[in-house]
Amino acid sequence: MLIVFVFINVYPSYMAQELVFQSKQSSMQNQAALISASLSPLEALTSDTVRQVMELLDDSSLTRIIITDTACVVLYDTDYDAESVGKYALFSEIVTALDGKDVFRSEFSETAFVSAAASPIMYRSSSIGAVYVYEYDAEQAGFIVELQANMGILSLVICLLAFVFSVLFAGSITRRVDTVLGAMQKVREGQYEQHVPLVGADEIAELGKEFNMLTDRLRTTEEVRQRFVSDASHELKTPLASIRLLSDSVVQNKDMSKETMREFVEDIGSEADRLARTTEKLLSLTRMDGQSSVEYDSIDVAKVASETQRLLRPLAEQREIKLEFSLGEGCFVRATQDDIYQVIFNLVENGIKYNVPGGTVMLLLYRRDDEVRLIVDDTGIGIPNEDLPNIFERFYRVDRARSRQAGGSGLGLSIVHATAERFGGSVAAEPREGGGMRFTVLFPACERD
Ligand code: ADP
Repeated sequence: MLIVFVFINVYPSYMAQELVFQSKQSSMQNQAALISASLSPLEALTSDTVRQVMELLDDSSLTRIIITDTACVVLYDTDYDAESVGKYALFSEIVTALDGKDVFRSEFSETAFVSAAASPIMYRSSSIGAVYVYEYDAEQAGFIVELQANMGILSLVICLLAFVFSVLFAGSITRRVDTVLGAMQKVREGQYEQHVPLVGADEIAELGKEFNMLTDRLRTTEEVRQRFVSDASHELKTPLASIRLLSDSVVQNKDMSKETMREFVEDIGSEADRLARTTEKLLSLTRMDGQSSVEYDSIDVAKVASETQRLLRPLAEQREIKLEFSLGEGCFVRATQDDIYQVIFNLVENGIKYNVPGGTVMLLLYRRDDEVRLIVDDTGIGIPNEDLPNIFERFYRVDRARSRQAGGSGLGLSIVHATAERFGGSVAAEPREGGGMRFTVLFPACERD
């Protein structure tokens, strides 16, 4: 604003002055040169001869013209009132002109342009006198003073408007930023339900939009976390309560038969096993949550699958389930052996657990273009459609009683889901044609290291 203020006040008036100076210089120097040229044929200058020539020139301009001889004595002056004829005119311009040089000077005072030009009058290359042209121009100076005043007012108005607008504008920006800031402070204190109003389509509105998305996300994460903590504590408390109950019964019932006691202790053992399995799975999920991207090896999924098949065969035989694995070649995935094992193990184990005696679990593994596909089909009890969207949630079970009885923790599919996503893949569940379930896992394929 200061620069604009100075510029508007200085530049136009400076340019106008320059223009006036230039026009005066050319007109006054021309005039002096013309008069000098008209007088130069005169061999000697006298008041009379000069007057005769000057009358012929019929100069009607507003300038004052003085003609002097070589001794600076005035021979002619258009200002009769000055009564200067016969007197000395010792102006510096005249002295310089008598030296044979053209002179011009002009200055702008508050009220007028005061300008003077002088030229020598030459006769056979020596000066015989000087022409002095003088002008006092109040009219053009008046214009410039007026211009300066107008520009001053104009610049004041512009600065005032700019100031008012910037105060209003900055005020509105500050208020909107303050709203976001206030909401951020509340979020910092744990109030995740903050939403800021979205006004306009500028950067602050964009900031507000991002902030609202962030708090939505935080809220969801917080809800999931709270649900997870309460589910996890519930899941851990249940087997502990059973263990407590069973051990109390053993301690308090002194007449308990050996067989019953053995049964109770076995139950305590299996509850302890379940507790261990649940904590193990919880730990592996928590590890995945906090894991950053590391460089992984290329893993042969077929090799891991046949190893898993070997490990699960006893359980399958116990439940009278057939395992049919069809393993393709070149199915390499950048991951860790343990993670791939977890995915296959959980899916095949579920296929066995939620199956009926005489059923089958089929695993199909193949590579298509840049993808490794792992499909696990079973002929089991299937999952109702309304439960399908939730089965990858932590601790979600379709049939609690059955899952519990099968030794499930409700974490297996969450581990599959989290693992697939971590390695850039995905997992989907759908009912299998002819009954049972189909789980399809896709991984980005890689080459053998
Ligand atoms: P769980 O440890 O209870 O098996 P999961 O996360 O592996 O937990 O599975 C979640 C729930 O999804 C299970 O409790 C079960 O009800 C259902 N489920 C998973 N796989 C199958 C399947 N192949 N067939 C039928 N139901 C399944």
